[in-house]
Formats: sequence, structure tokens, C-alpha cells
Amino acid sequence: MICLGIESTAHTIGLALLTEKKQILSEVKDMYTTTKGGIIPLEAAKHHENIKDKLIKEVIEKSREKRIDLIAYSAGPGLAPCLRVGLKIAKELAEDLKVPLVDVNHIMAHLNSGFLFTEAKNPVFLFTSGANTQIVSLEGKRYRVFGDTIDIGMGNALDKFGREIGLGFPSGPKIEELAKAGKYIELPYTVKGMDLSFSGILTSAINKFKKGVSKEDLCFSIQETFFSMLTEVAERALAHTGKNEALLIGGVAANKRLCEMLGKMCKSRKSKFYAVPLKYSGDNAVMIAYQGILEYKNGRSISIDKADIRPYERIDQIEVFWK
Ligand code: ATP
Repeated sequence: MICLGIESTAHTIGLALLTEKKQILSEVKDMYTTTKGGIIPLEAAKHHENIKDKLIKEVIEKSREKRIDLIAYSAGPGLAPCLRVGLKIAKELAEDLKVPLVDVNHIMAHLNSGFLFTEAKNPVFLFTSGANTQIVSLEGKRYRVFGDTIDIGMGNALDKFGREIGLGFPSGPKIEELAKAGKYIELPYTVKGMDLSFSGILTSAINKFKKGVSKEDLCFSIQETFFSMLTEVAERALAHTGKNEALLIGGVAANKRLCEMLGKMCKSRKSKFYAVPLKYSGDNAVMIAYQGILEYKNGRSISIDKADIRPYERIDQIEVFWK
């Protein structure tokens, strides 16, 4: 079986063809970026709409198998205008090709991509993307969210800080680079139980920047603070669940300092640390195709007329019926 995965929850529009045997036949993507300011949902959707036909053509051309047996798309959570572009592609192609359609949860796909790209078996998931910062673990047939951000996601906090200091979007990689030349200055540290809060730290860092503290020092300090907070709750989640694997996913997983901190913590607990490879740590369509295959092979699909978007769907609302 060959599945076409379609991802369009936020800044990235991607398509990928994946076989049931986990072979990536082809993948293409394009990202909406800005040099100033953050993501504007309608602008991102316009970007996706303008490039979609070119991407559909390319993903098929690049694949040695010209067949598509199944279509999976990200139904949510995400930005509604962007999600609608993916939905439209999915419905039109399912109709034209007369193939089944599966609507998958984007975060579920991120989590399960850990089983596609790493050797992890039963980890505590640390999901740190733009909008999400969640500490998640499978309990019975549901993913339980042990810890969450109580305001904004870690990636978005980094991006907002980057915007204030003139780095453009996405700022995470640029902050990582600048941090290499910085030293620590004190910022608030906000862990509340198992939950995390980033907005107060962000305000403090912005205020310090306005008072003349260097970009490098602030980039270093914001990283050290955010990543220590995540490492603290990750350690507590490992202790609580008794699990001995941690798996980092989401765009911020690209950060080497974060991986280093989590790796050290896991080592000290005799646990294994895994991170989804850089190329697939952010939004991608391969993970959507993989999730689609998992669900379809276990009996789930959706008719074209019922297919829709679910911008606010949480993973703890979904039964993990494919395990
Ligand atoms: P979501 O999936 O929650 O809707 P998203 O689509 O923006 O959000 P991802 O593509 O998973 O999420 O991740 C993007 C985020 O990752 C951005 O906030 C970006 O700044 C951050 N990021 C990317 N590379 C790095 C890095 N090297 N260091 C820190 N953050 C990074």
C-alpha cells in the first residue's frame, strides 16, 4: 500500500508518498516564512494554495511508483485557513483517484513518527513544536498529557523573542546560533507542578533587551531557562511513569543544546534518550502518511463528504485503537 500524506497545519505545506513497509518514496515541502513579524494564518494559507499544484506534481514525479492507494491529511490541530488547503487537496485527490481517505491528528502523527524514525518502544514523549509543549505518555488506550504549557508553546515563545530582537521567523535556529556566544543572565523560571509557563520569561527577556542586554546573552539565557524547565518535568514524568525512554519530537527538537540537556538527564537515570532526526522533527508529510497507514490498516477511514478540519482537537480525546 502506498499512502500520500498531506501536511498543512501551519507554516509548512508538505506531501509525501510512503509505503506500508515504511519506505519513503518521495517527499516535497515548502515553508511560509517572513523576514519580519510572525506567521499570518491567511497569508500562510495563500502561500499553500499558490504552491500546492506544483507540489502535487513533484511528489508523484519523484516517486518510482506512480501509484497512490490511500490519502491521509492533517485534520488538526492547527490554523484553520491552512488546514482547509490540505483538506481541499485530500478531498479532490481522493475523488479523482477513487481511493480511501483518512483524517489524522497532527500531534498523534508527530508522536507516532517516533516509531517510524527511532528505536523507541514505550517512551515518555516530549513534544515541543511551535504551538505545543507537552509531556505525554501512553496509558492504556489513550495518550495522557502529564504536563503542558499554560500559555504559549516553547517554539512560539522563541519565535516571539526572536521577532522582538529582529531575527525574523522562524527564530529558533538563529537563537541557537547566537546563544553560542552568550553567557548566563538571570531570568524567571516557571514550572508549576508538571506545567510550564513561558510568557513571563519572554516579557522579562524582552525588557532586558530594551535595557541594553546583549542578544547573545539573552539567547543563551532564554535557551538555558526554557530547556532546564522541560528537562525538569521530563525527569519527573520518567520517575512517575516508571518508563526508561524519553523521545523528543517537534521542531524545537532540532536544537542541539536541548538534546544535550535531555540526553544527560536520561543518562543519569539509566534511561534512553531518542530524538526524531532533524529532517523530520518539524512538520512533515511523511508522519501523516505513516499515521494514515496505521489507522487505515486498523479499520479507519472517512467518506469524502464527511471529511473536515478539527483545529482544536487534543490527543487525549483520541483512542489509540491501532496498538
Ligand atoms: P505546531 O506543530 O505546534 O502547530 P509548528 O508547525 O510551528 O507548530 P514545528 O514545525 O514542529 O511546529 O516547529 C517549529 C518551531 O521549531 C518554530 O517555533 C521554530 O522556531 C522551532 N525551531 C526550529 N529549529 C529550532 C532550533 N534549532 N532551536 C530551537 N527552536 C527551533
